[in-house]
Amino acid sequence: MPLNTTRWRETKLHNDPADDRLLPIIEAVRALPEANAHDIHAILRRYPKHGGGGSYSKHHIIHAYRRLCDAGEIPFERETLRRLQMKPTRTISGVAPVTVLTKPYPCPGQCIFCPTDVRMPKSYLRDEPGAMRAEQHAFDPYAQTFHRIRSFSALGHGVSKIELLILGGTWSSYRRDYQEWFVQRCLDAMNGRDSRSLAEAQKWNESAPHRNVGLVIETRPDHIDWNEIKWLRMLGVTKVQMGAQSLSDRILQINKRGHTVEQTREAVNLLRAAGFKIALHWMPNLLGATPDSDREDFMRLWSDPALRPDELKIYPCSLLANAELYEYWRRGEHRPYADDELLELVADCMTRVPRYCRVNRVIRDIPAPNIVAGSTRSNLRQDAERLIRERGLRDESLRAREVRGANVRADDLRLETIAYETSVGAEHFISFVTSADKVAGFVRLSLPAPTLDPSPVAELRDGGGEGVGVAMIRELHIYGPALSLGDDSSGEAQHLGLGARLLSHTEQIAIERGYKKIAVISAIGTREYYRKRGFEVEGLYMTKRLASTWK
Ligand code: SF4
Repeated sequence: MPLNTTRWRETKLHNDPADDRLLPIIEAVRALPEANAHDIHAILRRYPKHGGGGSYSKHHIIHAYRRLCDAGEIPFERETLRRLQMKPTRTISGVAPVTVLTKPYPCPGQCIFCPTDVRMPKSYLRDEPGAMRAEQHAFDPYAQTFHRIRSFSALGHGVSKIELLILGGTWSSYRRDYQEWFVQRCLDAMNGRDSRSLAEAQKWNESAPHRNVGLVIETRPDHIDWNEIKWLRMLGVTKVQMGAQSLSDRILQINKRGHTVEQTREAVNLLRAAGFKIALHWMPNLLGATPDSDREDFMRLWSDPALRPDELKIYPCSLLANAELYEYWRRGEHRPYADDELLELVADCMTRVPRYCRVNRVIRDIPAPNIVAGSTRSNLRQDAERLIRERGLRDESLRAREVRGANVRADDLRLETIAYETSVGAEHFISFVTSADKVAGFVRLSLPAPTLDPSPVAELRDGGGEGVGVAMIRELHIYGPALSLGDDSSGEAQHLGLGARLLSHTEQIAIERGYKKIAVISAIGTREYYRKRGFEVEGLYMTKRLASTWK
């Protein structure tokens, strides 16, 4: 439909002489259904601001586009909006990720590769994008959350589902009253009102406009025990990021990690038994490692049933001037890998990741000027993907197979179950997969081993016969871009009822294996969803009796 340019002029932004120029930009974007980010930037360059002031910001154009749609001048087209969005991949998994940093604080760790800047929480650099945003807001949790949601919204992203990622040093080493206050204030920002307690903020968030559908913290393996796990659940945490870094005690020791491989294994076992999603960080090129030893180390992540993480961040060790490792390098005792060496290693690793694991990142976003020696390649992932393709190999990990924003047809989906053993039971990664091997949605179901000691958490006992725990849904995820209410969404995975079908399938599996009860580690903002499907809040989880439902 052509734009009504007369009414456009009547409704244009007041006192902005640039507005007339926005019209051809919007028309050009609408006319290019296959446009990628490169095309959009070319359009912006073609229609620069008056007087040579550079390109218009997408923020400005999206604002005008939404206003025109609201005024009925043009139909709202989600695809057009998506093309106009600044970074469309950010919310392509259906959830807006809001990252916030804790205040500057030391960490009990002494890792020699870790930078120290007293103005930042341990391990963060002042010029990293997330750190800069946090400092601008004086590390205030409310301000960080509020402004991040507002930025996503201004860029046209849906913000009804929020994954809150709390970063900064070691979460578990902060005082507990600070942790509680921090989470409460993040929720207050999502709820749009100030609560008197964390419990009140959580209650309100169950029906808030911005619901917290995932809460992530990062900590060390030696801080995880049942006491800590109960505390994390009380805060509403659903996923734990943990630095494994290496699976060699020798490497851990010379890099002064301060924990052993066995402690990493124990922490993963406890977190899995408690239903958390587990994201490990693994670090090649530590002091004492070689590319070959790193390849062997990487394979231990999958061969050891006490590991097998759900998600992984590959963070090659970067040599930074404000880390102790710098002195080792100056003495000639440490060698950062060359660009090609690192590329080969990362590409090799990516082809060995199992289908159930998502590789969230393959390099940390450290601004190049901070890196003293070694690779400064920021597009390592794309280069590794290209190398893998050139070699005729495949990256089958979860991220490489997500449908992302693409439409899917129900008749093109098949159910795939990957079962694998862990030290605490049997895992089932059940996904809906398209004929092109893309994943439209998945569920992670843990079935605790009958030989496992009864859980210290009461609601995770009483699953059946003696010693049988409860079946646990650790994650349920359906793909599709984060949508605003009212946006057209036909054909997207989120709206084909895949979640309900996956839940029903997991319950059948649990019943067949003799479990009488199923639990889910639900985030506060997903409680409504599970209530509608027969779950009730029980202590730190939501649970459902299976026997009465499936006789
Ligand atoms: S535990 Fe993490 S934050 Fe603490 S010193 Fe080690 S790398 Fe840095």
